[in-house]
Amino acid sequence: MPLALLALAVCVTHAVPRRQHQHMKVTPIKPATIDPVTFAKRLVSMQAGWPRSRNFDCSKLKCVALTFDDGPGEHTWRLLDLLRSRDVRATFFVIGQMVAADKGGHTVRRIVDDGHEIGNHSWSHPPLAELPPHRVKQELRHTEHIVRQLTGVRMRVMRPPYGSTDEQVAAETRREGLAQILWNLDTLDWRDRVTETVAKRASHAKPGSIVLLHDIHRTTVDAMPKVLDTLARRGFTFVTVSELYGRTPSPGKMYTER
Ligand SMILES: [Zn+2]
Repeated sequence: MPLALLALAVCVTHAVPRRQHQHMKVTPIKPATIDPVTFAKRLVSMQAGWPRSRNFDCSKLKCVALTFDDGPGEHTWRLLDLLRSRDVRATFFVIGQMVAADKGGHTVRRIVDDGHEIGNHSWSHPPLAELPPHRVKQELRHTEHIVRQLTGVRMRVMRPPYGSTDEQVAAETRREGLAQILWNLDTLDWRDRVTETVAKRASHAKPGSIVLLHDIHRTTVDAMPKVLDTLARRGFTFVTVSELYGRTPSPGKMYTER
């Protein structure tokens, strides 16, 4: 029972005659419905500044930010297993409709619990530069709302679908507190569904690269062990987008690499 309520209860017990006291309604505290470990992680993820930066200095290290768009999908969980087994963090630009279709939001919650960065990729994946400003706002806000409801996380980065952006989109993202994250390495994994090809292209990352991938394709997730092996062998550290810059990127501003 909260202290204030306890004090009130004690006070009332002393001050009110017994008859009236029996008519007081006390709302019972509901028992917890989730396990304590999950709840504790949820609380941590609700803190300001999440995801916590691991303080990599990407001006000195060879850093690469792997980014996965358009999920969560049916292969995302397998990708998360792989990333966790290698202690690799990435950034997931999720589509609101996909989050809504993910029953109970268990995949987005795991993305957050595993320490990855989560970004806004609109609600329904339209080219934002072709929409009037109020529709851009809707697209961003609906996704913001559902992700916040499920994870407690306030997203700080977004990726415009198809890279479609202009002055108006920039202004809207600034108002919504979101930095625009583009990329400088396109694996074209959405077009060429060939594991070897995706692995080869992603392995061409340079220090400071932001690599565009899509976790909704089986071939992309299949390519990841090889990508991680090759880049790790070349001395790369895998970081989230915010870690790549060493701070939360500025709202409205556009980033393509470090
Ligand atoms: Zn996309």
